[in-house]
Amino acid sequence: MENKKPVRRTPPKRRRNLKKKKNGMKFMWILVVALICVIGVLVVRLFNNQDVETPPHIDLPGQEEDQLQEQQTPVTPEETPEQPEIPQEPIPQIPEQPEPTPEVPSEKVEYVDASDPTIYPVVANVTVIDTQAPYTMLVNPWNKLPEGYEPDIITRSDGHKVHATAAEPLQKMLNDAWAEGLKPIVCSSFRTETKQKNLFANEVNSYIRSGYTRENAITEAAKWVANPGTSEHQTGLAVDIVSLNYQVLDKKQEDTPEQKWLMENSYKYGFILRYPSNKSDITGIYYEPWHYRYVGVELAEEVYTSGLCLEEVLALKLNPPEEDGGETAVSDLL
Ligand SMILES: [Zn+2]
Repeated sequence: MENKKPVRRTPPKRRRNLKKKKNGMKFMWILVVALICVIGVLVVRLFNNQDVETPPHIDLPGQEEDQLQEQQTPVTPEETPEQPEIPQEPIPQIPEQPEPTPEVPSEKVEYVDASDPTIYPVVANVTVIDTQAPYTMLVNPWNKLPEGYEPDIITRSDGHKVHATAAEPLQKMLNDAWAEGLKPIVCSSFRTETKQKNLFANEVNSYIRSGYTRENAITEAAKWVANPGTSEHQTGLAVDIVSLNYQVLDKKQEDTPEQKWLMENSYKYGFILRYPSNKSDITGIYYEPWHYRYVGVELAEEVYTSGLCLEEVLALKLNPPEEDGGETAVSDLL
């Protein structure tokens, strides 16, 4: 391999010229590229400006204020596109709704017709609604509350709701008991018809789970939880009171000092033990040594001193025994 050094070498002057030429070419290219960029930017701007300029035509019929605002705030591409009209996207929210199916309980509870005399013996077919003393009203399986009955209800400081008429006597009774070192508390009070329905349905279902037929379950449940419309709790005049130290609703409740005191003293405040142990066949409800009903002091005293239940006392009031005849048994009146 031979060297060709002399041929390849160019004179220094020529080299300089070549360098100059090369530099010139580079500069030209840079200029061209820069020009293209500038033109590109201008074109983009032009297009943008055209877009921007069109919307203001809509505002022409507007007032001067609008025009002033436009002058003050330069129209930028962000503001002009009519964004408020675009958000028509709430469609995906609609298909989210068809979910609340799991709430459908398999409740097939049929409520007992309280007027059916085959369920309970008809012992007190009396409805006393004294307009002078509406708190004496009789509510039991045979005396349903009128549809849409809405008592005058107030809320106590413990959150329980009671009839306005019974609120003060109840508080006084509780205060006096606490003053004696006892601790009675309200555990149940006013119930809406809906709540009563749910309570009854739960009771029926628990009987069915225990092996009762539906028919028997309904009959048994009604002896513990009143049918909707036949519960005194829907009047706001009834409260369940328990001992703070024993809050179970069973027969042992009667052994607490609180219940002993209430059974002896509640009538002074206008309350009666509504479902005594020996009157279930008349009241239609089993013994409840916690359920107190406000009937006013006068009637409460009559119930307490006579040893009769509310149905019996009201029956006597409606059909007072003849003075001459002397001894008319209460059972004859019922
Ligand atoms: Zn009760």
